[in-house]
Amino acid sequence: MSNQELEELRAKVDEINLQLLHLINKRAEIIQEIGNIKTKQGMPRFDPIREREMIDKIRANNNGPFDDNTILHLFKQIFKASLDLQEVDNNKKLLVSRDRHPEDTIVTVGDTEIGKKPIMIAGPCSVESEEQVSIVAKSLVEQGVKLIRGGAFKPRTSPYDFQGLGIEGLKILRKVADNYGLKVVSEIVNPADIEIAPEYVDVIQIGARNMQNFELLKAAGQVNTPILLKRGLAATIEEFLFAAEYIVSRGNTQVILVERGIRTYEKWTRNTLDILAVPIIKQESHLPVIVDISHSAGRKDVAIPIAKAALAAGADGIMVEVHPDPPVALSDANQQLDLNEFNSLMTALKKANFF
Ligand code: PEP
Ligand code: MN
Repeated sequence: MSNQELEELRAKVDEINLQLLHLINKRAEIIQEIGNIKTKQGMPRFDPIREREMIDKIRANNNGPFDDNTILHLFKQIFKASLDLQEVDNNKKLLVSRDRHPEDTIVTVGDTEIGKKPIMIAGPCSVESEEQVSIVAKSLVEQGVKLIRGGAFKPRTSPYDFQGLGIEGLKILRKVADNYGLKVVSEIVNPADIEIAPEYVDVIQIGARNMQNFELLKAAGQVNTPILLKRGLAATIEEFLFAAEYIVSRGNTQVILVERGIRTYEKWTRNTLDILAVPIIKQESHLPVIVDISHSAGRKDVAIPIAKAALAAGADGIMVEVHPDPPVALSDANQQLDLNEFNSLMTALKKANFF
């Protein structure tokens, strides 16, 4: 083959490449138009019957030299890329995304506006007694903290561990919080309890283990009470935002996201605090983001630096566990701060001008 022949053939291949490029993008544009029509009609994007028809037609018209499997593999890639393209468009349209709602969402709890300037949510892991909660509440008030946390329904990993005081615990929290002028954040685990929760709590927490309890998320979307949604133990940021979307899409826009660490191979911390999640979520979503420095670290010796790191990364607040006597706490004894440690944390954060 002469060099000239080779050059001519190459020129033909280049020309075909450009035609393919043009056709693939043309096809993508048409798929996007179809996607828009489907969205308007509430139809699913992927239609297996339609895909089967396309595959059959391609196979019937394949005259080689490629065999059917190779051709179908190539076309499957094109189909998938087109669907992914729709997905990107779709994600941009999430109600929790900044594309849909550029301004920060401010979650209002009493006179606290979460999403404006940093806030602190503190309190025991579990509600154990009125006395225990009162001691912590007094310290919070002294430090100017407005929101008290405490678990009454505890989703424990072991069924033999303390499961919480249930409704009794919520009553204790409400009573103590009212005595001290505080607002209550507490976890609800049963969708059936969401409706009665506002009687006792000001913010409904949905814990890491329930981040993908879709029935709970749907129920949370149907009340007006703010929801504090924690990131799942092994959830990606995208899955976390989809979980929030479940709530917001049902009508409750008052959602606070909490980065609380994800499970990795690291053993010196209970979970790995994904600090990158803070600026990334703040960029992607308009919802406020808070960092739980207790469940992420699982230890308290690093409370001050991680709280500072979280706030420096743009977090809208910190959540921390505080107990009057951590060594005898009924849950998470290792990570709860005692009152002195809590005061030191607050002093350090105030000194660094975060509060
Ligand atoms: C909690 O905050 O009480 C709790 C159980 O945390 P997580 O759901 O993040 O494990
Ligand atoms: Mn805990």
